[in-house]
Amino acid sequence: MALNLMLMGLPGAGKGTQAERIVDEYKIPHVSTGDIFRAAMKNGTPMGLEAKKYIDKGELVPDEVTNGIVKERLAKDDMNDGYMLDGFPRNMAQAQALDAFGKELNKPLNCVINIHVDPESLMERLTGRYICRNCGATYHKVFNPTKVEGTCDRCGEHEFFQREDDKPETVKNRLDVNIKMNTPLLAFYKEKGLLHEVNGNQDIDKVFSDIKEILDKI
Ligand SMILES: [Zn+2]
Repeated sequence: MALNLMLMGLPGAGKGTQAERIVDEYKIPHVSTGDIFRAAMKNGTPMGLEAKKYIDKGELVPDEVTNGIVKERLAKDDMNDGYMLDGFPRNMAQAQALDAFGKELNKPLNCVINIHVDPESLMERLTGRYICRNCGATYHKVFNPTKVEGTCDRCGEHEFFQREDDKPETVKNRLDVNIKMNTPLLAFYKEKGLLHEVNGNQDIDKVFSDIKEILDKI
């Protein structure tokens, strides 16, 4: 049976790394929403042109258009032997649409993997980055601290700063938005018996071997 997979995980959970390993191991196309949007607009597909109207105006692309773009992509022959969705669906309207056109194209999802890391650990991962004000060297409080506390390894200066994106308040907001989006999707796929939870709070190799164990059974 083809592996028709959707990969989920909050920011910082390590989804990108695991996505690369999965496509490498299982030789299935990686369907990330950002990539297929760019391709659809570049190639001027009907849905790509539709999406461009909204993006050019700086407006959010409606679900119908996003669904249409994913459907166009899924209909292609290189998806016949499996695929991995990443970043879609993001809400229940998109999940319902995927459910319908997946069946219609005879390529329904048959596995959802959620890489789970508790929000406290994600806060630690995502807010730890700090940068030397003098030379721009980047460090992480937990994973890559300076050798001498408060002194840049590269230039010896003592002043550091955090990017706006890495500040606790910004990170907390981003996580909250994503948790709110993911919660109904997780319940939906659990109900369908498609959801597999993987513990993302382990080293990268162990996370991948846990994923592999699930995928090899499909
Ligand atoms: Zn420095």
